[in-house]
Amino acid sequence: MKVDELIVYGKSKIHSQHAKMLLAALLNVNSLELLNYLDEEVPENVEKEFKEKVAELVKNRPIQYVIGNVNFYGEEFIVNESTLIPRFETEELVENTMIYLDEFFDTKNLKVVDLGTGTGCIGLTLKKLIPSLDMTLVDISENALEIAKQNKEKKGLDVDIVKSDFLEELEGPFDIIISNPPYIKTNEDIENIVKENEPHLALFAGEDGLDCYRTILSQCKNKLSKKFMIAFEIGCNQREDVTNLIYQELENVQVICKKDLSNRDRMIFIFSK
Ligand code: GLN
Repeated sequence: MKVDELIVYGKSKIHSQHAKMLLAALLNVNSLELLNYLDEEVPENVEKEFKEKVAELVKNRPIQYVIGNVNFYGEEFIVNESTLIPRFETEELVENTMIYLDEFFDTKNLKVVDLGTGTGCIGLTLKKLIPSLDMTLVDISENALEIAKQNKEKKGLDVDIVKSDFLEELEGPFDIIISNPPYIKTNEDIENIVKENEPHLALFAGEDGLDCYRTILSQCKNKLSKKFMIAFEIGCNQREDVTNLIYQELENVQVICKKDLSNRDRMIFIFSK
C-alpha cells in the first residue's frame, strides 16, 4: 500500500493524528515530512508493523509506548511500560526550575538530584541545559533505571545513575532536589488508559497521595547544603497539604507555589532562608 492509503486505513481505526505519527515514526521521518511521501509505496514489513501497532492502539495502549519514544522539552526520550510517560506539566517544572536556579544561586556548579527519575527526562534535560550541574538520577525501579541509562547514553550526558528509595542510599549534600514523584491517591479515579498501562509504582502514593513527599521531606534533612532549593511537581489539589507538610518537616524555609499554563497549582519550590 502507499503512504496515503495506509493513513486512510489507520484513520478508519484510530485518531488520524496517531495514524500519521505512527507511520512517520516507522518510516523514520517526522509527521510533516510524511506529507512529501503520500504517493510512495510503503515496504511490506513496515505496512505489517503499522497494522500491528494500529491494533495495539485500538486496544488503548498509549501511543508513546507503541512508538517507544516521546518528545520532552524538544528532545526525544526513549520510553516503555517501566516508566511514566513524561507530561507537558513536567516541562513547566523544568522551565521554572531554570528560572529559580538563576535567581537564587550565584553559581551553576551545583549538586542536583532528580528523585524518581523514570525516563530521566527532568534530570537529563537540566543537565543538557546547564552542563556544569553535577547531576544524579535516582529511581527505585531497576527497569526504569535501564531506560534512564539508555536516554543518558543516547544524549551523551555525564550524569550518575543510582538505585535508591528516593534519598535513602545517597549522601549529599545536595544544592537542589527536584522530583515529580508519584502523587495520586490509592483510590483516586484516573483515566483508564493511564491506570491500565503506566506503572502503578510511578503513579500512586498512599491513601492521601502524599507518601512520597513525606518520605523525601523526612529523608532530606541532613542531606541538603546550607543554601538549597527543592522543586516538586504536585497534584493540582495538593498545594495546601504539601505546604503544611513542608512546614512540619523543615525549618527556616520559604515556599512558593506556581501554577501551570492551565492555571492549576502544579509546582512547589522550597528555598532555604
Ligand atoms: N521523573 C519522571 C517524569 O517526570 C517520572 C516521574 C514518576 O515516575 N512519577 O516523567
